[in-house]
Amino acid sequence: MTRPVPAIVILGNGSLATARVIQQLYPGALIHGLAERVEGADRIYREFGATLRELYQQDTPIIALCAAGIVIRTLAPLLLEKGAEPPVLAVAEDGSAVVPLLGGLGGVNVMAREIAATLDVTAAITTSGELRFGTCLLNPPSGYALGDLELGKRFVSDLLAGETVRIEGAAPWLAHARLPENEQSRLTVHVGHVERTPAAHELLIYPRNVVVAVDAGVANVPGAVREALHQAKIALQSLVCLLAADTEMTSTTLREAALELGVPLRFASADGDVRELVRNAVGQPVSLVGDGTIAVAIAEQPLDPSQIGRPRGRLAVIGLGPGAAELMVPAVKAELARANDVLGYETYVRMAGPFRADQMLHCTDNREEMQRARHAFELAAQGRSVVVVSSGDPGVFAMAAAVLEALHESTDANWHAVDLEILPGVSASLATAAQAGAPLGHDFCVMSLSDNLKPWSIIEKRLDLAAEADLALAFYNPISRSRPWQLGRALEIVAQHRLPQTPVVLGRDIGRPGQTLRVTTLGQLTPDQVDMRTMVLVGSSTTCTFPRSEGGEWVYTPRWYGSKP
Ligand code: SAH
Repeated sequence: MTRPVPAIVILGNGSLATARVIQQLYPGALIHGLAERVEGADRIYREFGATLRELYQQDTPIIALCAAGIVIRTLAPLLLEKGAEPPVLAVAEDGSAVVPLLGGLGGVNVMAREIAATLDVTAAITTSGELRFGTCLLNPPSGYALGDLELGKRFVSDLLAGETVRIEGAAPWLAHARLPENEQSRLTVHVGHVERTPAAHELLIYPRNVVVAVDAGVANVPGAVREALHQAKIALQSLVCLLAADTEMTSTTLREAALELGVPLRFASADGDVRELVRNAVGQPVSLVGDGTIAVAIAEQPLDPSQIGRPRGRLAVIGLGPGAAELMVPAVKAELARANDVLGYETYVRMAGPFRADQMLHCTDNREEMQRARHAFELAAQGRSVVVVSSGDPGVFAMAAAVLEALHESTDANWHAVDLEILPGVSASLATAAQAGAPLGHDFCVMSLSDNLKPWSIIEKRLDLAAEADLALAFYNPISRSRPWQLGRALEIVAQHRLPQTPVVLGRDIGRPGQTLRVTTLGQLTPDQVDMRTMVLVGSSTTCTFPRSEGGEWVYTPRWYGSKP
């Protein structure tokens, strides 16, 4: 069972060496460096406060190489809102101090000790229970769940007040703890999966060792699962996952049931009823209760849900936006973080990174779109979480349509069972328009000038009609080495319907290093000012410009047409 990967945040080059040492401890952890202050970080950020708060809100453990006070002040506005919190640590730039600040239940002290050991210093642990007993009783290892936090806190303060404790059940991790054990104690730590109300002075810890297999036809699945566990006298906290036959992978009932129960949903191939299903999938001896539609399997040891059956595969076609990380939507960032496999044109895959060592990258040539789409389904159908990357928006001259075409053409039930989602991005025309002002502020027409997948004659026809209709025009793929003359011809057609002074915006590498934005006119535009990394926006008859105070010009197309209302 994996812990979330922390983010290491630094403010200056002076911390880079310490950050790299800490990074060794956490495979996949990225160093976030302040723009213009840090060279060689894995990710660049511009605003310390916004970055830290975003990480915190996404439950990412934070290791900040700066003064503890800065971190506290930055996160303070968020602290009251939140029950559970990720670990947050401040580490001195030179590695001489490690201070766990927040996230006691998220394992912050464990991290502080790990980091301190690597840096050869002592962690500044301030949690009394931890100091005394060398472990946090309220933060059992994965595979176990704490019964009730509030009761737990009282329990630990009783212990700290000098009481002794008795341990019932198997708690192997407590063997190393320096607990004041005594068989006659009033205080008891009870470890077990049996459903019970805690007696006075009892801390309940549940092993996660129970799997429920269910038939999707069962009415009210969450209710039925709770009832089956109750009948078997098993605590809901011991439930590891819900299991179903892989023929039921697309069932929304099951998906919602697992969500409501707060456990993962896993699938296995069925030959027999749910009892067979769960017995085969758990892979260690179980005792079984239930009937042919719902079966409860109890294992002797805690179970890792990732080892039981497989999940429903997922395929997300994502848009990175034009390039800059700030213009990538949060849902896309989250999808990249959960991906097992990332497919795409190499430039875009590199733009989407950096990636963790456990993430597989499949880079292909830009022209192999259908093959890439099919490969994505093959991987997702195995239960993997797959991301196909496009620049801008995936639905605009990019991979989303190719992926849907591949699915449409396929009769493979496993492909159709994949959880497919398209996540949007900021398309180049919109990113370019935003920088210029609002040239697409009224009706506009988006076209690709590439005749790779459509005849040139239809491009000419559409251009002619769109220009005649007085739509503002956005040209993707305006020119390339194999298509040298097409743009010139396109501009001729447009010029038949537009005046030479019509504003034109050229955005090159927008949102990427070295971006340029140029405002010119139709009469002055020549194809040599444009390359394949350029977005061409041609105004309509109402598009106008006026000077910006910083220099250059604003371009916009008013919202009205004809005469100003
Ligand atoms: N899906 C992408 C478009 C892919 S077609 C999107 O929604 O943006 C590729 C064309 O998009 C390029 O030839 C160029 O015309 C334009 N383009 C893509 N990214 C760009 C950027 N950052 N700046 C300017 N134009 C870009």
